[in-house]
Amino acid sequence: MENCMFCRIVERQAPAQVVYEDESVVAFKDLHPQAPVHLLVVPRKHLESLTQAKAEDEPLIGHLFGVAARLARENKLEKGYRTLINNGPWAGQSVYHLHVHILGGRVFHWPPG
Ligand code: AMP
Ligand code: ZN
Repeated sequence: MENCMFCRIVERQAPAQVVYEDESVVAFKDLHPQAPVHLLVVPRKHLESLTQAKAEDEPLIGHLFGVAARLARENKLEKGYRTLINNGPWAGQSVYHLHVHILGGRVFHWPPG
C-alpha cells in the first residue's frame, strides 16, 4: 500500500506525532485538528474502511476503540469526547485507511453536520 499515507506513517516512512503504538495499532495527532485534542487510531493492517472489514477483523476493531478510550483518559477528557469513523464519500472519508477519530477538549453538538 505504498500510496497510502497512513501505511507510510505506520511504517515510519512519513512523519507524524505518534502518541501510542503496539503490535496492531498506531495512534497519532491529526494534522488538521478540529478540537484541542484530535487523535487518530489506525490499525497497522491496511483496511480501507469498516465496509471492507471482515469478521476476523472484529477483535482489531474492538482494540482500536479500547486504545481510544485509554488515550481519552490520558488526555483527561473526562467531561466527554467523541469517537467516530467516517466511512465512504457521503461520510466525508478522505483517507482510505481505517481510522478512529478521538475528538475532545470542547463541546460537541448533535446531530453532526
Ligand atoms: P477522514 O476524513 O475521516 O478520512 O479523516 C482523515 C483525517 O486524517 C483528517 O482529519 C486529516 O486531517 C487527517 N490527516 C490526513 N493526512 C494526515 C497526516 N499525514 N498526518 C496526520 N493526519 C492526517
Ligand atoms: Zn494503508
